[in-house]
Amino acid sequence: MNNDLKSLLSKILNESITKVSPVHGGDISKAFKIETSNNAYFLKSNNVSNASNMFQIEAYGLQVIRKTNTIKTPKVLACDTFQNVAFLLMEFIDSKSPSSVDYKNLGYQLAQLHQCTSDSFGLDQDNFIGSLPQSNRQNTTWVDFYTTERLLPQLELAKQKQLLSKNECPSIQNIKSTLESLFTNIKPALLHGDLWSGNYLISKDGTPYLIDPAIYYGHHEVDIAMTKLFGGFDTSFYETYSSLFKNDENTSTRIEIYQLYYLLVHLNLFGRSYYGSVSSILKKYF
Ligand code: ADP
Repeated sequence: MNNDLKSLLSKILNESITKVSPVHGGDISKAFKIETSNNAYFLKSNNVSNASNMFQIEAYGLQVIRKTNTIKTPKVLACDTFQNVAFLLMEFIDSKSPSSVDYKNLGYQLAQLHQCTSDSFGLDQDNFIGSLPQSNRQNTTWVDFYTTERLLPQLELAKQKQLLSKNECPSIQNIKSTLESLFTNIKPALLHGDLWSGNYLISKDGTPYLIDPAIYYGHHEVDIAMTKLFGGFDTSFYETYSSLFKNDENTSTRIEIYQLYYLLVHLNLFGRSYYGSVSSILKKYF
């Protein structure tokens, strides 16, 4: 990290920086642990042209979740641009690998987050899923929202990228008629939006934190679908969660249809290795 940025951070924090070390694991930005004699902070920086916008949206998502007082997010301390490099500075969470009790707490607190509701599906602003844009135009019907704001834009992108053919992409009418019977009595719930195992941390004292959100109001099972996409979380997480949000006879079908969105995103971001999973869900339901 350059010395000018270091001295700016030191001014923002009003503390002298004693150590800066890289943090690995992110796939979009550079990340650092910033230490002072009494505290530790986490910094993400990126010089791509839309990085400042991405960080502002990330900071907004972290703050919206934080304000619900249901599950913690790292406190955001600054979000700015310096010498053409955008940065996001927040509290550093000293994390550990989760125990079964930690997973139970995570399941409980996620269910509390999902109790936060709204009049419509979507959000007052668009955001990103990974590095792809995610449109959140508000809609009072979940079938319409999930069709036009989630599946269709990713299907369109996959077609443009020649990852799916026109024949493989279902029409809007076809999608809606499948979803109509499955999406009944769905209430908007505040979602993390990208809840894979790299997007939560358990602090050393056992407190769950959500990071890197892609928030919007949607069906609560969308977050659960993402947790299950690559291996799944510990069973104590699901036991606690499902004691608060009951499954019904269509839950497992909906989970697959919600996973389709994330698989399309992976297909569009990372290419053909996701084609098989996308194609089998498309064939099964549409
Ligand atoms: P990217 O957006 O580039 O994918 P991430 O937000 O996933 O970056 O963060 C990169 C790494 O930093 C991950 O391993 C994550 O666990 C860790 N991390 C993220 N936020 C914090 C934080 N506030 N405190 C400590 N570590 C964090």
